[in-house]
Amino acid sequence: MIERRKPIPVTKAIEKLMNHLPAVKVESVRLQQAYGRILGENIVANYDIPHFNRSAYDGFAICSNDTKGASGESRIQFKVVDHIGAGDVSKVIVGKREAVRIMTGAAMPAGTDTVVMFEQARAEGEDTFSIRKPFILGENISFQGEDARKGELLLESGAVIHPGIIALLATLGYGEVKVAKKPIVGIIATGTELLDVDEALQPGKIRNSNGYMIEAQLQRMGIEYRSYGMQSDDLDQCYDTVVKALSETDCLITTGGVSVGDFDFAPGVYKRLGAEVLFNKVLMRPGSVTTAAVFNDQYLFGLSGNPSACFSGFELFVRPVLLKMMGCNKPYLQQVKAILMEDFLKPNPFTRFIRATYEFTAGIPMVKPAGFNKSNAVTSIARGNAIIVLPNGTRGYRAGTEVDVLLLGTEEGVAEWNL
Ligand code: AMP
Ligand code: MG
Repeated sequence: MIERRKPIPVTKAIEKLMNHLPAVKVESVRLQQAYGRILGENIVANYDIPHFNRSAYDGFAICSNDTKGASGESRIQFKVVDHIGAGDVSKVIVGKREAVRIMTGAAMPAGTDTVVMFEQARAEGEDTFSIRKPFILGENISFQGEDARKGELLLESGAVIHPGIIALLATLGYGEVKVAKKPIVGIIATGTELLDVDEALQPGKIRNSNGYMIEAQLQRMGIEYRSYGMQSDDLDQCYDTVVKALSETDCLITTGGVSVGDFDFAPGVYKRLGAEVLFNKVLMRPGSVTTAAVFNDQYLFGLSGNPSACFSGFELFVRPVLLKMMGCNKPYLQQVKAILMEDFLKPNPFTRFIRATYEFTAGIPMVKPAGFNKSNAVTSIARGNAIIVLPNGTRGYRAGTEVDVLLLGTEEGVAEWNL
């Protein structure tokens, strides 16, 4: 008898997954190891940035009061009494109509409040220059605290650490920073039909693409994984491998065997394990049989064997869970709107996730399906850089309609500079 499954909407499936998150674990790493990690602490400015007034240009530090009335006809002259570069502090007290020759980044000398850029000064002999306009107090200065004030909350725990964040952490003196511990993910590809990548094709057999694809999806996120290779469709063997994998990982992804076929053993494995199945049917195409279960603090994802379904299942469910396990505050794929460039006729009322190419040329966001788009397609996942989302309940979409799009990865740029 065929098992009856209760399908749930994608949003509900995500909600169920997010209700089982274990507490985030934090560790300290050296700043140079922090790129791509999830920040595990709030970062507050521990001093004013910058912490002293400094020159924003190469020029002369003067007092703005001394520039009153300056004009082309009546230039005002200044005498240079000291010379400093970035990193130096002048010991001279600057008097009336005196100046310090100063370089970008050097601390403003006592008695000065303005910088005359070299381009704004005219040399009048060895140690003298003149100006032709009055200067406002603070002109050409970078002020203490203008970038951030001491005590200001600058970054929140859960941010993805990118190079700009590294710069800020370095500025604040964080040689070590707290980041979320990364979960270790196990991968098992199931299917008696599977051949490894360098095996020759044989009648009735196919190469395992999902295992390698998932490894790369995890690599893209900077997540560590252990591959448990390929398992034939055998309940006992699959069960033993799953038990071993669960003893060594925080989250386990299997592909294949989640449907209701005679050799689909994932449901039997969950049952024998005593795992709590959160869902085993989602109102979406492809990947309606995507299954998720929890066992103690561990997640088990049973992704469809069909490559497109497997790919989407990872991006929709596994990715945000892994990010949330690390406390990430932006775990979902970027969501944008774009104009559909081709008709797309939907053969069923499920939410459709279509591998697609997204382009933003001439100021118009455009998207079109990336070719052959059935759940078993592998070419469209290779071509696509996005996923079109067509909500359930609708049967088809015409070219020109605005649709929802999920953007995948950001490593790939565009061919031309268009700005
Ligand atoms: P299943 O989810 O086991 O019912 O498999 C669905 C389809 O995906 C079948 O045509 C399988 O042969 C294929 N398939 C299963 N596992 C993989 C894999 N690792 N790589 C590529 N295709 C697969
Ligand atoms: Mg199978």
